[in-house]
Amino acid sequence: MRIRSTLLLAGLAALPRPASAVPNVVTATEDLAAIVREVGGDKVKVEAIARGYQDPHFVEAKPSFILKLHSADLLVVVGRELEIGWLPPLITQSRNAKIQPGAEGYLDASLTVKILEIPTGPVTRAMGDVHPLGNPHYWLDPDNGRKIAQAVQEKLARLSPADAATFAARYADFDNRLREAEKRWDAAMAPFKGTKIVTYHRSWPNFCDRFSLDVVGYVEPRPGIPPSPSHTLELIAQMKRDKVGVLLVEPYFDLKTPEAIGRETGAKVLMLPPSVGGEKEITTYIGLFDYVIKKLADALKAGA
Ligand SMILES: [Zn+2]
Repeated sequence: MRIRSTLLLAGLAALPRPASAVPNVVTATEDLAAIVREVGGDKVKVEAIARGYQDPHFVEAKPSFILKLHSADLLVVVGRELEIGWLPPLITQSRNAKIQPGAEGYLDASLTVKILEIPTGPVTRAMGDVHPLGNPHYWLDPDNGRKIAQAVQEKLARLSPADAATFAARYADFDNRLREAEKRWDAAMAPFKGTKIVTYHRSWPNFCDRFSLDVVGYVEPRPGIPPSPSHTLELIAQMKRDKVGVLLVEPYFDLKTPEAIGRETGAKVLMLPPSVGGEKEITTYIGLFDYVIKKLADALKAGA
């Protein structure tokens, strides 16, 4: 990333960081910001960098991101190299020692959650695969959301010990509400156990594992690699064999190939955002699942 750097950085170096009463938290994604908000309430300030309607693997870096990071007390990242294409240079250029990887103000949310699809053989980004350290879309399992919230709670308590009891109480409340919500999500998804679906990108393995859906194929030949004609033909044949009724597409992918596949197989193409902020009405972590499960259950019912 090239930013008209000299001027901006000279400005940054001279800028005193405002001493704010509450920790200033920056998160890589809106999902993480939503979870920090649950735990931190008004005892933290939180802002996300990537928007929920953007592909989190490929975010266009802007100078304003560096300014946000410059004044952060805590940076929470998804990790597993999800942000490797855009975040590391921003962290370096922020010139903020507190949030450098390994520092107290850097929290990798992937370290305490359940990670799927950890490669057993050698996989590198040179092969084009954007999931070299396992699947980074792990927030789509509510139990992982709970674990992220717990890690955030512990981190905030260390940064702001005077508010530790508030963070603990807010975490407990979030945990309760999540548990209640899981009951209704389980009920809504129960009729579709074992249903075969196809997705564009490998965004949904944690979700499908949690709610017992069977993903039998992907529009991308590998994560991050655009569809190829030969792969698409194989996928169409497989979807016909498996009678797949629904194809999920994240909002940031071109619909041309999915729609062609839908016409060929009769599968319904369902655009489904995998993140908070993916649609205006999705403003909370629990709200993300409410939205996704409603849309998905309706489509699976129609596709059955
Ligand atoms: Zn991905």
